[in-house]
Amino acid sequence: MDEFHFRGKRRQLIESLRQTGRFDEKVLQVMENLPRHVFLESGFHAYAYQDEAFPIDCEQTISQPRTVAWQTTELEVLPRQHVLEIGTGSGYQAAVLSLLGARVFTVERHKPLYQKAKLTFKRLKLDRRIRTYLRDGSKGLAEMAPFDRIIATAGAAAVPPALREQLKVGGIMVIPVGPEDADQTLLKIRRVSESEWTEEDLGTCRFVPLVEE
Ligand code: SAH
Repeated sequence: MDEFHFRGKRRQLIESLRQTGRFDEKVLQVMENLPRHVFLESGFHAYAYQDEAFPIDCEQTISQPRTVAWQTTELEVLPRQHVLEIGTGSGYQAAVLSLLGARVFTVERHKPLYQKAKLTFKRLKLDRRIRTYLRDGSKGLAEMAPFDRIIATAGAAAVPPALREQLKVGGIMVIPVGPEDADQTLLKIRRVSESEWTEEDLGTCRFVPLVEE
């Protein structure tokens, strides 16, 4: 599953991220050990270690490795934390979170992606650390709330209120917000009390839209 030549290319990709960005070393180490090609169609395997987003089923995309490193660094995940991800897609981001020691709850609205990601988690023996749900993630996952961390990998026009409410006091959410088909802003939101949240603007980004049902 993880041939030698893939490992060499992956090491180069991670080294280039290390040289050109400020990412958490633990996150880079997880990405260096996790095969990304396994999350892509075989036609894309040869490109899996380029720093690019690629198409997956249902007209969605697997995030660019630099974006995964960025979002995951900003999420400041600690072992055993409960992390909610909105937008399972290929499952790559969820796998990175699980390998950081988190309990991952990931939500996807497209059935083919949900089914495929579940199979991929099983193949990689990550299925005991990741729970996968088929539903509209803009409503969060009330029955498993609250969460220490929430990450959205699809961009909303505004932060869905349910996600704010399902964040623990002291918790962190990283979410792209902004108009469809234009640059979005990556926001880092901290819940500082029952009724207060602070927002930090991390910079511009581009994600597929969060589709609310
Ligand atoms: N984290 C993914 C990136 C996938 S792209 C990866 O690592 O590959 C974003 C995903 O969000 C898409 O699969 C899209 O179908 C999903 N999505 C969009 N709106 C959603 C919603 N309301 N609820 C759940 N998933 C949603």
